[in-house]
Amino acid sequence: MQPPRNLREAFRDMTPDEMRAASREVELEEWRADNRFCGRCGAAMKPHDDPRERAFVCPACGYAAYPKIAPAVITLVTKGEKVLLQRNTHYKGVVWSLVAGFVDPGESLEEAVRREIREEASIEVKDIRYFGSQTWPFPSNIMIGFRAEHAAGELRPDGEEVVESGWFDRGHLPEIPRPGSIARRMLDAWVAEGNE
Ligand SMILES: [Zn+2]
Repeated sequence: MQPPRNLREAFRDMTPDEMRAASREVELEEWRADNRFCGRCGAAMKPHDDPRERAFVCPACGYAAYPKIAPAVITLVTKGEKVLLQRNTHYKGVVWSLVAGFVDPGESLEEAVRREIREEASIEVKDIRYFGSQTWPFPSNIMIGFRAEHAAGELRPDGEEVVESGWFDRGHLPEIPRPGSIARRMLDAWVAEGNE
């Protein structure tokens, strides 16, 4: 089941508690829909005998399916007093945002941060620090936010996912993501540092 289209819109106006509850519902619904049949042998799945175990179990082969969350990293990259923003082809309209992408199997979060930035912007970063995280039920993700500083290289958008990128001053930001997203929270925190 696809989450309702308007959830993205609704997310913007929710409190953190409402966001948590809505994410949970959407992600559990997605998990139920994906696990009606066993992915290993095709038999119909049943809820776990122990109601405290949130799992579907296959009566034929014993496979148990727990909800799975896919981690994605998002990074606010600075170069001195400037921030890296880029325009992605999959965004509607002209919104500039941060570098983000899914963590690959076998990869650490820091490795994912370095690889995404290398792939999308062709630069190297240093001083990777944790910022915070946000549930992102589209359909079952968690966005893990980091800060990093430019270390080497010139910006060169990949031309596929990213069409344009640049370093921006606090006073001259283009259109950025609306409130409700971790990208906006990270940018707001960075802008506020300039006023300290
Ligand atoms: Zn099975």
